[in-house]
Amino acid sequence: MASDYYALLGVRKDASAHEIKSAYRRLARELHPDVNPDPETAEKFKEINQAYNVLSDPEKRQMYDLGGEGLAGADGFGGFGAAAGFGGFSDFVDAVFGAAGGGQPRGPRSRARRGRNATIRIELDLSECAFGATRELTVDTAVVCPTCSGEGTAPGTHPAMCDVCAGRGEISEVRRSFLGQVMTTRPCPNCAGFGTVLPRPCPECDGDGRVRTRRTMKVRIPAGVEDGTHIQLAGEGETGPGGGPPGDLFLEVVQRPHPIFERQGDDLHCTLTIPMVAAALGATVSVESLDGPSDVDIRPGTQSGQVIPLYSLGVKHLSGSGRGDLIIHVTVETPTRLDAEQEKLLRDLAKLRGEEAPPGKFQPGQQGFFSRLRDAFNGR
Ligand SMILES: [Zn+2]
Ligand SMILES: [Zn+2]
Repeated sequence: MASDYYALLGVRKDASAHEIKSAYRRLARELHPDVNPDPETAEKFKEINQAYNVLSDPEKRQMYDLGGEGLAGADGFGGFGAAAGFGGFSDFVDAVFGAAGGGQPRGPRSRARRGRNATIRIELDLSECAFGATRELTVDTAVVCPTCSGEGTAPGTHPAMCDVCAGRGEISEVRRSFLGQVMTTRPCPNCAGFGTVLPRPCPECDGDGRVRTRRTMKVRIPAGVEDGTHIQLAGEGETGPGGGPPGDLFLEVVQRPHPIFERQGDDLHCTLTIPMVAAALGATVSVESLDGPSDVDIRPGTQSGQVIPLYSLGVKHLSGSGRGDLIIHVTVETPTRLDAEQEKLLRDLAKLRGEEAPPGKFQPGQQGFFSRLRDAFNGR
């Protein structure tokens, strides 16, 4: 499998760093295992990561362009991906440039590796975010193979030393390059760098040491989470290959919009429309809150735009105790479609209050300000 990194990313050989980056981003979004859990896609995802790892580094890219064939061969076997430190390639670079800051441990690598993290999105109602919730989750994951307990060997058999690399997990060879003769060390292609081979891989997991399964678990979501909150469940991700430790599971909260309340931090906001007469005379109205209906006193003379806070009826604080507030924004409704009797009542009211409106009597508030300003300029 001599992969062409340019073809993998779908860019031309002379693509700019920017083109490579955006091609990789596009593919990564499409092929990310969290988006697309299909195993074939996961393999492809690994490959494009490997390609990007090389092509995004000018030095590595140059070396790849010069010695492409040999390198593609070196990392073209059994899932030797970027996660494993890209041993084959960095060893080659070390050989040419003198292992500056390499520090790569030599020798066979362990079959046991840590499992990947996984992220699951969970949709919650506003009240579940506010008060917390318990959810039953079903996740597709990998667990330790019950047949081989993660070792990857068929029952009664054991890993055997690789006779190509004599258990070292790597092989060295002298190659000619434009820089002269270089000694390259690369992971052994026979054992994929493990130093051992499995003469009879476990029939259930095919040597991987784990099997895919569907798992159900109960999770407790704390009160106060919001859209975008990540909850880490340590060790609840998939088991690693070769009996390695599990990764973590992350829950990403998606808060469903609420028909009445808008959340800002831990405060909730809503609007309340009251009739003009109730605003003038005062009233007690029942308002919905997350805790059920709540009586609110409208003071006589309440204006449109006034806010009435109901303390501690908001969302619980995620850290610390206490809750946010429920803030009610009042809108006063002017009556429309008056019948003759209502209109007369209002005209009489206006007369009583001296509010009859001959044309031009009501002025916007700022006009007085501007005319005073003009007068001041004119020295009056
Ligand atoms: Zn097995
Ligand atoms: Zn070997």
